[in-house]
Amino acid sequence: MTRVVLMNPGPVNVDERVRAAIASPDECHREPETRELLARVRGKLATVAGGGDAHTAVLLTGSGTAALEATVSSVVPATGGLLVLDNGHYGERLHRIAQVHGIPVRRLEFGWANPVDLDAVERALTAEPWLSHVGLVHHETSTGMLNPAGDVGRLTARHGRSLILDAISSIGAEDLDVVADHVDWCVGTANKCLEGLPGISFVLGTRAGFDALAAIPARTFYLDLHAGYRAQVAGGAPQFTPALQVLRALDVALDLTLAETVTGRGERYRARAEQLRTGLTDRGVALLLPPPHRAASITNAWLGGDLTYDQLHDGLKQHGFVIYAVQDRVAGSFRLANMGQLTAADIDRFFTAFDAVTARPTVAAVGAGQ
Ligand SMILES: *Cc1c(COP(=O)(O)O)cnc(C)c1O
Repeated sequence: MTRVVLMNPGPVNVDERVRAAIASPDECHREPETRELLARVRGKLATVAGGGDAHTAVLLTGSGTAALEATVSSVVPATGGLLVLDNGHYGERLHRIAQVHGIPVRRLEFGWANPVDLDAVERALTAEPWLSHVGLVHHETSTGMLNPAGDVGRLTARHGRSLILDAISSIGAEDLDVVADHVDWCVGTANKCLEGLPGISFVLGTRAGFDALAAIPARTFYLDLHAGYRAQVAGGAPQFTPALQVLRALDVALDLTLAETVTGRGERYRARAEQLRTGLTDRGVALLLPPPHRAASITNAWLGGDLTYDQLHDGLKQHGFVIYAVQDRVAGSFRLANMGQLTAADIDRFFTAFDAVTARPTVAAVGAGQ
């Protein structure tokens, strides 16, 4: 297999042991060995997020957005409402999901790449008692900004509300403790910083929290979190056919995560990110965010000069590197993710390719102007 280095924010390059796990024997999802697999994965997910015996997870077959939609549509009662803290593409998505389900929603827009204003959150919660839940994106993957989950969680708890945290691109690599940070609903996926394969996502919460969902009428059939919980946790078997091979891979990926530790993985990611950020800055490329707001796994950068995103992307792809656009395709900006099994040597090779690609259009532009 030729190695393609993925610098998009998931799916990621995985460890060979994770890849090997999908070649597991054929199996039926209603047999005891599969039940054990599901229970094992739920337990490991709770451990990764700092949860204890009170915590469990519901697994969904679907990408991260399936778990987000299951959460928003299942936990906010018709008599309550969701306060969305929006400072990027995924904040917008939380708002959109609530709207699609007709859930009362208030959106605090801070603007892309602007930090969350805790005073504004406090004012909104004080002024609008009907808001029962707060929705926050931990790592806003569109800009690479790490939002203060603990500060928002403590503020939310102080006001007697519940926090829904989109931890899809943070869990596994960023500090996150669902207990200390007061995260009531923690949403994640297999194929980002947990370094599994795409197809499985999950929602972590307390058993008491899942039990209490019985009082909220389902808004969807397939993504009904309480039904999923009753089947998986109380009944011990999944309600619907899960992506079993992807679950086997996630089981292995979680072992590797726990062995490396979340702190260790965060350090590894930050070392790679530093290498990228230093390399870009040395080449005169400006970065979007100031250092205090940067997550461990994304670097957003501006490309000066005539080079377009498509030229950069296509040029790097020929060298075996896949980079990513910023959602709104802001001209001259691009994203580099360093999630997954990236080595320091990969990043050295990336810069060799980057130099080759960025040198070419400049020469062409000079030629064209003469
Ligand atoms: C990747 C991501 C999602 C989900 O995207 P999917 O394509 O559905 O997996 C949601 N929120 C954030 C912050 C993400 O980075």
